[in-house]
Amino acid sequence: MFDGREIVQFPEASVRALGDENLQAALRLLGEGFQARRTDAVERFSEFEDARDAAVDAKTRTLRRLHQHLENFEARCQEQGGVVHWAETPADARQIVLELLTSRGVRVLSKGKTMVAEEIGLNGFLEKHDIEVVETDLGEYIIQLAEEVPSHIIAPAIHKTMPQVVELFRQHHDQHKAEPFPRHTPADLVAEARAVLRRRFLEADAGLTGANFLVAETGSSVIVTNEGNGDLTQTLPRLHIVLATIEKVVPTLADGAAILRVLARSATGQDMSAYTTISTGPRRSTDIDGPSEYHVVLLDNGRSSLLGTPAEEVLRCIRCGACMNHCPVYGAVGGHAYGWVYPGPIGAALTPALLGVEAARHLPNASSLCGRCEEVCPMRIPLPKIFRYWRAKEHEARLNTVRARLALALWGWLAAHPRLYRLGTGAAMWILSRLAGRSRRYRNLVLANGWTRSRDFPAPAGRTFLNSWNRRS
Ligand code: SF4
Repeated sequence: MFDGREIVQFPEASVRALGDENLQAALRLLGEGFQARRTDAVERFSEFEDARDAAVDAKTRTLRRLHQHLENFEARCQEQGGVVHWAETPADARQIVLELLTSRGVRVLSKGKTMVAEEIGLNGFLEKHDIEVVETDLGEYIIQLAEEVPSHIIAPAIHKTMPQVVELFRQHHDQHKAEPFPRHTPADLVAEARAVLRRRFLEADAGLTGANFLVAETGSSVIVTNEGNGDLTQTLPRLHIVLATIEKVVPTLADGAAILRVLARSATGQDMSAYTTISTGPRRSTDIDGPSEYHVVLLDNGRSSLLGTPAEEVLRCIRCGACMNHCPVYGAVGGHAYGWVYPGPIGAALTPALLGVEAARHLPNASSLCGRCEEVCPMRIPLPKIFRYWRAKEHEARLNTVRARLALALWGWLAAHPRLYRLGTGAAMWILSRLAGRSRRYRNLVLANGWTRSRDFPAPAGRTFLNSWNRRS
């Protein structure tokens, strides 16, 4: 258990996911949806690679002097009438939010989409203290009704099919209405959720949002949404709390704009999201709306200890979801199989840093290292390199199996003896090639039968890489 959430182990969860027909039907839409839309957006934008470089540069400069930018953010935010709270651990962050709410008599909290709230287990904690939490992002709302957790960082309910959503709405909404809602199309479902949520926005005493980034030079928080729910969450109630992690700060608005140029294109294939909202402090006397109090809770939760390590680049992540949309492993098993808050390649790179290698050791291994995630990551995060870093840590801590350690030791010894290596791989190639027979495929690999249990394995081409290379030159 970490902060109220049970860690599900990847090997068992992925087997369950592969057998889940509803999930498999929902995941089939990944390719037609997110992947195709990102490809179109990148093709339409001839400067995409330059925009990527600019966004990477903005974050790299930020991380180099993170402490200074955070201090600047705090100073500017306070000048604008906001309050910054520092939380080292999830427990600290939960407590700060709880005290802000209870000291002001808040009973209903509306909430925009934030993965950090998932990371600290906020909803369950507040509900134990009799504070009702209302998710207002449509996907988050659906999974709140289903009493589940998000399976994707930008499409939390992607694992749900339309008939499942229809059934959830029927169970939860019809009891509040004399006439049942019409539910023929996705648009009907959106209209229904909007009608229900509008009332809840008005009932909320406080609103909590995340932040896509925080701007040090102005002390502002920025959110990017497509539904406008974040704006209603942060402007209607009297108290607005921003919950964000420390690496979300950028030095200037121009740096934030550099991130915006790649964010929506990588996430949903839009040139820009429908709403980009900059909030700076509480409502001023000349403002027509806005909260009377503005608080920012900044969580570290181990991120500062990643600075200067080979995993530091994971802190450049802007949570666009492109890596999971293109990952063959995520596409096969979905997000819940990753067992904790952050699924897909970003989860495999980040979760070991947050929960420790022992708890999350399966995740960096849930990758074929095909490199597709790094290819599409707008922030050029070397995800496969980070997986290898965590795998090395797992090996150093002797957390992998004896069989894996023996195989690595044998391979290491052979690699240090080039003649034997060439002889061994040449002989193995010859034998394996003949064993494959005419089909050129294996149905049962002796030391890797986990692979051949559900699919066959292609025979090697008949020559080693070195052989082919030598012939070529
Ligand atoms: S790792 Fe890259 S692709 Fe994945 S969510 Fe983060 S920024 Fe997006």
